[in-house]
Order: sequence, then structure tokens, then C-alpha cells
Amino acid sequence: TYVVIDNCIACKYTDCVEVCPVDCFYEGENMLVIHPDECIDCGVCEPECPADAIRPDTEPDMDEWVSFNRKYSEMWPVI
Ligand code: SF4
Repeated sequence: TYVVIDNCIACKYTDCVEVCPVDCFYEGENMLVIHPDECIDCGVCEPECPADAIRPDTEPDMDEWVSFNRKYSEMWPVI
């Protein structure tokens, strides 16, 4: 899965949302999040992000970000 990290805060540029084929971006409290169970791992959103905030969960130390993205995806509406 891909997840959004805190580089997104105060950016919220939405080109990533527009390219996602499965609409799995959600409006978070102050940043966007991706539902990790809905993401199909296509990777098309990653190069669209000007803040370098979208990362694959295969990067080191991403477990907390996966949990964060899941938690806020389930609390907030789809964007
Ligand atoms: Fe959507 Fe693909 Fe990005 Fe996952 S990797 S959030 S499915 S655009």
C-alpha cells in the first residue's frame, strides 16, 4: 500500500486524489490520508505529489504511518 506522511500538512494539493483509480484518499484532520486496505498499490499518485508526501509502506519505519492513514480514513469522508 501507499500512505501519506506529514509532508502533506498545509499542502493538500489534490492532484493525487484526481488520479487515484479507486478513490481511496480521505480528508484527514490537517492532511490527506490513504485507506491502506483500499489502495491497490498502483503507484500513480506518488509522482503527482509536489510535497513528496506519498510513500510506499515498504520504506523503513512506515508502520505508524500505515496505522495513522487507516485510523483517519475511517474517521473522515472520502475526498
Ligand atoms: Fe490510489 Fe494507486 Fe495511490 Fe493507492 S497507489 S492511493 S490506488 S493512486
